[in-house]
Amino acid sequence: MALLRNFRPFLGSNLIKRTIASLNSLPETHQMLQKSCRDFAEGELKPIASKIDKEHLYPKEQIKTMGELGLMAVEVPESYGGTGLDYLAYAIAMEEISRGCASCGVIMSVNNSLYLGPILHFGNDSQKQKYITPFTTGEKVGCFALSEPGNGSDAGAASTTATLKGDSYILNGTKAWITNGYESEASVVFATTDKSMKHKGISAIITSKPTPGLDLGKKEDKLGIRGSSTCSLIFEDCSIPKENLLGQPGMGFKIAMMTLDSGRIGIASQALGIAQASLEVAIEYANKRLAFGKPLTKLQTIQNKLAEMALQLDSARLLTWRAAWLKDNKKPYTKEAAMAKLAASEAATFLSHQCIQILGGMGYVSEMPAERFYRDARITEIYEGTSEIQKLVIAGNLLKEYS
Ligand SMILES: Cc1cc2nc3c(=O)[nH]c(=O)nc-3n(C[C@H](O)[C@H](O)[C@H](O)COP(=O)(O)OP(=O)(O)OC[C@H]3O[C@@H](n4cnc5c(N)ncnc54)[C@H](O)[C@@H]3O)c2cc1C
Repeated sequence: MALLRNFRPFLGSNLIKRTIASLNSLPETHQMLQKSCRDFAEGELKPIASKIDKEHLYPKEQIKTMGELGLMAVEVPESYGGTGLDYLAYAIAMEEISRGCASCGVIMSVNNSLYLGPILHFGNDSQKQKYITPFTTGEKVGCFALSEPGNGSDAGAASTTATLKGDSYILNGTKAWITNGYESEASVVFATTDKSMKHKGISAIITSKPTPGLDLGKKEDKLGIRGSSTCSLIFEDCSIPKENLLGQPGMGFKIAMMTLDSGRIGIASQALGIAQASLEVAIEYANKRLAFGKPLTKLQTIQNKLAEMALQLDSARLLTWRAAWLKDNKKPYTKEAAMAKLAASEAATFLSHQCIQILGGMGYVSEMPAERFYRDARITEIYEGTSEIQKLVIAGNLLKEYS
């Protein structure tokens, strides 16, 4: 395991001690991983998270170090250059990294679950050698291009086309909102190869970047996760060798949905990291800040807020770890991943909101990280399926179970 082999301990001072009641029930490997990631995030990410946000900086050096630690390909087997750990390990690592810097969290999540994930599960050996191994080290990152300007939630309505001509697919159309779009050197793109088949005519194709016929749109100016880039991929008669087709023609929609099932565990974990950071900042501040002659933590109203925050956070964490456990144990987890993402993203929004409230005026200014947590949290309720879509997924699966 590259992470444990290469881990360099960071003697982060001022480490905020926290207790996760269930920590001791984690396997020893996962506890070590959690501590390594926490120390790394504390020492190397937390101190520059505000700069990354304010200057919209892509954290190139930090992503490289995360690659050296094995965090950019957690689930990928060692034979393809990855770390070879399970999904629970990935969820734990994602939370700790996002606790330090949510932008680093999303870059890590897209590379791990949205880019490497589908190639690992649906690619052939030569695709894995070419498009997985070089993307495990943090030097190169990949992206996932499903959404379009005209359809996000309704992914089956993709209008980008891939027409087979000789030995190549010719891609035409625009993919919107692509995370890692600027830095990525390859992407898994979803395009229609047979319009008459509707969503069953969508195929997944790996495209390298740069490549003739592929242009990038403007970098989006976002509310949060400002260290990660988001832009359109514009295809105009872009020729991609047909051996880059992932799985079979028409399998794209299935690949996308299965990829999003696992991706949602990663986004739930990103949300947990933001929520955990919010709780820690709120407690630290409330312990020091005096009002009416005593620390805020002595006020019952503040204690109530902290109790509600801890309750939402722990509930969401248990749902997230359950979804990861189900995936690791090869059991169905679509509904549980959607529950985890819904609960964790709403927890992140709630906790970061309460964190601002507990800090009062200091919560509203960028001197303190609370306002960044609030801005970063918001996207977790939108990407990889909005909260409304998670409810459709949960209800759809629930009703099947009871039919
Ligand atoms: C910062 C950022 C990064 C992103 N990264 C990526 C990426 O890397 N790759 C990628 O492919 N996409 C990415 N996306 C796109 C993201 O997944 C979509 O924005 C999201 O799925 C919502 O789609 P939409 O924006 O088109 O909203 P719409 O689908 O237009 O939805 C608008 C509203 O209507 C609601 N709604 C829609 N349909 C229903 C329904 N059937 N029932 C109830 N409510 C409904 C939605 O919940 C939402 O509230 C990213 C987006 C952002 C903002």
